[in-house]
Amino acid sequence: MSAPITQDVLTLPRKLPETARTNIVGLTRDQLRAALIAAGTPEKQAKMRLGQLWQWVYHWGVRDFALMTNLAKDYRALLADHFTIEQPEVVTRQISEDGTRKYLVRIAGGHEVEVVYIPETDRGTLCISSQVGCTLTCSFCHTGTQKLVRNLTAGEIVGQVMLARDDLGEWPVQGAPKDETRLISNIVLMGMGEPLYNFDNVRDAMKVVMDNEGIALGRRRITLSTSGVVPEIARTATEIGCLLAVSFHATTDEVRDQLVPINKRWNIATLLEALKAYPGLSNSERITFEYVMLDGVNDTKEDAYRLVELLRGIPAKVNLIPFNEWPGAPYKRSSGNRIHAFADIIYKAGYASPIRTPRGEDIMAACGQLKSATERARKSKAQIAAELET
Ligand code: SAH
Ligand code: SF4
Repeated sequence: MSAPITQDVLTLPRKLPETARTNIVGLTRDQLRAALIAAGTPEKQAKMRLGQLWQWVYHWGVRDFALMTNLAKDYRALLADHFTIEQPEVVTRQISEDGTRKYLVRIAGGHEVEVVYIPETDRGTLCISSQVGCTLTCSFCHTGTQKLVRNLTAGEIVGQVMLARDDLGEWPVQGAPKDETRLISNIVLMGMGEPLYNFDNVRDAMKVVMDNEGIALGRRRITLSTSGVVPEIARTATEIGCLLAVSFHATTDEVRDQLVPINKRWNIATLLEALKAYPGLSNSERITFEYVMLDGVNDTKEDAYRLVELLRGIPAKVNLIPFNEWPGAPYKRSSGNRIHAFADIIYKAGYASPIRTPRGEDIMAACGQLKSATERARKSKAQIAAELET
């Protein structure tokens, strides 16, 4: 007698396996529309379905297709067959004494990046990452001691905003009165990585975040910080439209070469030329010059006067950042007196010169302290010193 044929071998699973389904998060409107059509949405309906889906995911924060009640049941099933709605997983959340929250999040491949939420009286700022590690090796930056592992995808960048909104309970509640106050009112691309070395993904992610039918953060509520990747600077204005911050940090090429080694490729004069030509530059859309205050390195009065000269003709404000220490850091923070004297000179020359209050220091969430502890590709101090000498 022959063995009976088992039936279940012949039954195909209705759902595509997880890996074959497309994550919706981070797709631009055009990409999502094309994906919906490829999955079987009739072309004539695609625009409407896209609008509905977009609202569910980005306005209401819904992650389950079954809950999208204005879509037919069959269509919800079709979506679940072909798509997922995924964001990076929160591994740990630390809350500082000052209310700052730091999330360690895990992305595909087991890599980790950090996301920081900074509440202030008049705003709430989310600091997001664009890369795991960084190819650049700024000598005062903790992230710079971690080798670049990979660029984040647009979905992983948008996902950082979504997971913070989850944690803060910021998605609107259906039927409740509209609440215009925002816990996350601003986004800064100042976490791990150099955003202009991951331009396309950062741009696509910010387009999703700015989209009016979804998270709807205005373009002037987003600030991208670059160490000075000159060829990509103009695109930040034309393709994203957000505000720009530049990690300036020094007033001579000699010192900037040491602090921000990308200066050896694009020096101060070249960088300033690109900034002067920044499209849309105006007093209401000034460029922020970030300047980390390092004791005895870049903090003299002469530096302050030189900085004023360099800024001439550029609508700018200067953000002074007291250096945040990290284990093994080769610098010390300038004294309060030094920082105030420096700020005063800049201010008297007509530029706003706020001193950034370090936030979340007790949980290593302050500027330049981010580094995923599990990434063990740490450079030794000797290696950093050797690179500085070249
Ligand atoms: N790669 C981008 C964005 C991330 S860094 C850039 O370099 O602009 C965000 C800001 O924190 C930059 O201005 C950076 O220079 C600054 N920073 C880095 N390490 C720091 C530290 N230890 N203390 C204070 N600021 C730091
Ligand atoms: Fe990279 Fe910015 Fe840190 Fe420099 S300061 S190493 S560019 S993250």
